[in-house]
Amino acid sequence: MVEFEKLVPPTKGKKIIVKNGQWNVPDNPIICWIEGDGIGPEISSVMRKVVDAAIKKAYKDKRKIEWFEIYAGDKARKLYNPSITDEQLKELSPQDQRKVYLPDDTLKAVREYHLAIKGPCETPVGKGFSSINVGLRQFLSLNVCLRPVWHIKGVPAPVNNPDAIDMVVFRENLEDIYAGIEAYPNTDRAKQMIDFLRKQWKVPEDSESLRDSSGISVKPMSPENSKNLVRSAIDYAIKKKRHVVTICHKGNIMKATEGQFRNWAYDVAKEEFRDTIVTEEELDERYSGDVKKAIADGKIIVNDRIQDAMFQQVLLRPMEYEVLALPNLNGDYLSDQLAAQVGGLGFAPGANLNDEIFFAEATHGTAPKHAGKNEINPGSIILSACLMLEHMGWDEASKMIKTSVSKTVESKKVTYDIARQLDPPIDPISTTEFSDEIIKNL
Ligand code: NAP
Repeated sequence: MVEFEKLVPPTKGKKIIVKNGQWNVPDNPIICWIEGDGIGPEISSVMRKVVDAAIKKAYKDKRKIEWFEIYAGDKARKLYNPSITDEQLKELSPQDQRKVYLPDDTLKAVREYHLAIKGPCETPVGKGFSSINVGLRQFLSLNVCLRPVWHIKGVPAPVNNPDAIDMVVFRENLEDIYAGIEAYPNTDRAKQMIDFLRKQWKVPEDSESLRDSSGISVKPMSPENSKNLVRSAIDYAIKKKRHVVTICHKGNIMKATEGQFRNWAYDVAKEEFRDTIVTEEELDERYSGDVKKAIADGKIIVNDRIQDAMFQQVLLRPMEYEVLALPNLNGDYLSDQLAAQVGGLGFAPGANLNDEIFFAEATHGTAPKHAGKNEINPGSIILSACLMLEHMGWDEASKMIKTSVSKTVESKKVTYDIARQLDPPIDPISTTEFSDEIIKNL
């Protein structure tokens, strides 16, 4: 039995059990939630109301979530370290700063209960601890970031045919240039690294690509993380009956990292999913190059695209792409571009996961200037909750919410961010009115 410093788990409800990657979800699971900072309290509370109402509607009294509040961000600091000042905080080690905003209790609870959802958290003032969100992913080893992107009818979008976009991004979460292994310019660390590269790796002294004044960020990529990501993407494609998995990379230039990512991806596809997949290369020989024929034969097509070309592809030929697997940086860029193509981050859901933990989250930040005004769009966290419900196998409730969100937006009952983009602009409704409409339309 896990012991917490301050948390008190609900007395009702049961734990989700995960064994060898198999999830056993009871009808009354305990699910962790983090309110978040800024607009977090507003969007988290309406998200829980919508989810509870949908579950009740879909399953009557047979199923119910027991919500377990855990803490991160400002609320954690107030609960666990109420008297610490900003000055004192700055003097703490990065590890201790982390504990102020992301207590061990929170990490323990997520590991124990497996499923969680969070509002956005502000990046704290401390000097060494980069971000609560990055911290959560790293400490919980959440290697996979899942971001589905589709267009909700009625949401104004900048492209001609936003409905053609129905893609699911799988982004690696822990390595690549995001690993945080860096040296600022003109520091001892940078000098040591430059010296090492010149002496050991024989980079010429006069190279204009490596100057004395350069800053350095290191880009590690491993077969373990890359294969795990691609395995998740193909698994997802099988489960959700998707037909194409595209590996995106810049392997023509970064051969030792992104080039390997591509190779490892094909290795996983061929070694672990041989009977299910056909690569684009094999398509000619086995199906006379006919994609439709391969799909009719129940195959998933695995192809790869160079990242810069991929930015064009998703604009010009979005119908051809379904599930995308990308390294960290490419995934960050492409998921935001795709979200923009369907109208922005207001309705962009996301989750971070591994085999044992599924952590859904709003993809936008704390939007401080809107905090406490009951005006922000709660769409992102509500649709993130749908991802969580789908992971639990409670697809009926998820579908009900998604349909209701579409219906609500189509009836032009929308928050300010959407109302102002309509032509002509209309009067917005509040966060709570919007969620009440969603509940009414379930
Ligand atoms: P942000 O909080 O996402 O907000 C930037 C702007 O985006 C807002 O001012 C608003 O634009 C629009 N926006 C964001 N969420 C919206 C929503 N739900 N509905 C409608 N409009 C929305 O980005 P930021 O200002 O760069 O970051 C603020 C803080 O959040 C930082 O401390 C950052 O570190 C943190 N952050 C956290 C996460 C996370 O927890 N996952 C992610 C990103 C950032 P308008 O004012 O123009 O309407």
